[in-house]
Amino acid sequence: MNASSTEWSAEDERAILDSIETWVEKEVRPQARHFDQADEYPHALVEQMKELGLFGATIGQAWGGLGLSSSIYARIVIKVASAWMAPSGIFNSHLIMASAIERFGTEAQKAEFLPRMARGEFRGGIGLTEPNAGSDLQAIRTVARRDGDDYVVNGAKTWITNSANGHGILLLVKTDPQAQPRHKGMSLFIAEKGPGFVVSAKMKKLGYKAIDSCELSFDNYRVPASRLVGGEEGKGFAQVASGLELGRINVAARGCGIAQGALELATRYAQERSAFGKAICEHQAIQLKLAQMVTKVEAAKLLIEQAARKYDADERCDLEAAMAKYFGSEAGVFCANEAMRIFGGYSYSTEYEIERYYRDAMLMCIGEGTNEILQTIIAKQWIARNKV
Ligand SMILES: Cc1cc2nc3c(=O)[nH]c(=O)nc-3n(C[C@H](O)[C@H](O)[C@H](O)COP(=O)(O)OP(=O)(O)OC[C@H]3O[C@@H](n4cnc5c(N)ncnc54)[C@H](O)[C@@H]3O)c2cc1C
Repeated sequence: MNASSTEWSAEDERAILDSIETWVEKEVRPQARHFDQADEYPHALVEQMKELGLFGATIGQAWGGLGLSSSIYARIVIKVASAWMAPSGIFNSHLIMASAIERFGTEAQKAEFLPRMARGEFRGGIGLTEPNAGSDLQAIRTVARRDGDDYVVNGAKTWITNSANGHGILLLVKTDPQAQPRHKGMSLFIAEKGPGFVVSAKMKKLGYKAIDSCELSFDNYRVPASRLVGGEEGKGFAQVASGLELGRINVAARGCGIAQGALELATRYAQERSAFGKAICEHQAIQLKLAQMVTKVEAAKLLIEQAARKYDADERCDLEAAMAKYFGSEAGVFCANEAMRIFGGYSYSTEYEIERYYRDAMLMCIGEGTNEILQTIIAKQWIARNKV
């Protein structure tokens, strides 16, 4: 089992999944359209997520979390995203931060942050991307310079999820901007909000509404040296890179959830809507779409399960996680797109839910490594494992 996950009985896992399903159907699905269209942060849902234990879903039980396996966690994410993808970002980015602290943090850092994170009292995110550097993270320019017991941080981040409504982020910086290779000069900090940590603008987005994705600026922000993850400079890039597999399984689940939700909406509509004297699901053109959609949803679930099982067993899963993320996110785009066609003109109406899936889906192809980069990773890993 992976460090933080705990053996749960199949019965316990079923009970957890049932309680999430009840919450999704009772609270998330009915309110999704309101929060999405108003672009309003769902504070009430966040309080419910705390009660459900979602902020501690994958944090070890020793720290007050549920210690769920990534396999069960992925099923939770698929369920939430099948109703509305955006709220999964509130606990997803938070749990990636927690996972880095749990795996690489000092004992003092774990004791200080993980119990509060598990309760959702401290909610976080990940601060990697900068205006000039997304895929090429080693090109970041934010710098932290040691000054007594603190580091002084200057620079800017962009697109940082949970940064307006959260309490802090995992912050990737350069502690040695001249280092060669570049990654040796990179470090991660647990950056709590305080003077000099400025949320400078909320990004205006196509989809993924209601969730805060912001530009941040750091203007002589002082972070105590005790917040350097693991207590040693130069490890930040490797720490981020080793969290990518879990992050990719999570994004795959979000894409798969969008695909499943779009399929569910389209399946219902295709039986209710008639054209030329019969339900549109009886027209072969619509059947072909439904067949392709359901096959992709099921295939995405299998790829996610394969990657998650390997991750939970502490086996190497870089190829599997990349394939799951690539396929799951593309399945989300494909199914949302095809569902739009099945809904015909009504797909374009904001009175219907499907347009939200269409707007939300593309993001899953961008986050945690763009699908272009992921395809190159898949190919390289595949060749490396099949050398002649
Ligand atoms: C809504 C939203 C929320 C986000 N949340 C966060 C967050 O919480 N924290 C965070 O740190 N970031 C976040 N991001 C940023 C996201 O991770 C980046 O946008 C992503 O990594 C891509 O970086 P980029 O936008 O700079 O694109 P670029 O890296 O500039 O890429 C542009 C294009 O070039 C291609 N490309 C680049 N290099 C290569 C290569 N070597 N091979 C092939 N193709 C290549 C890419 O695939 C892409 O098609 C978020 C983004 C969005 C839109």
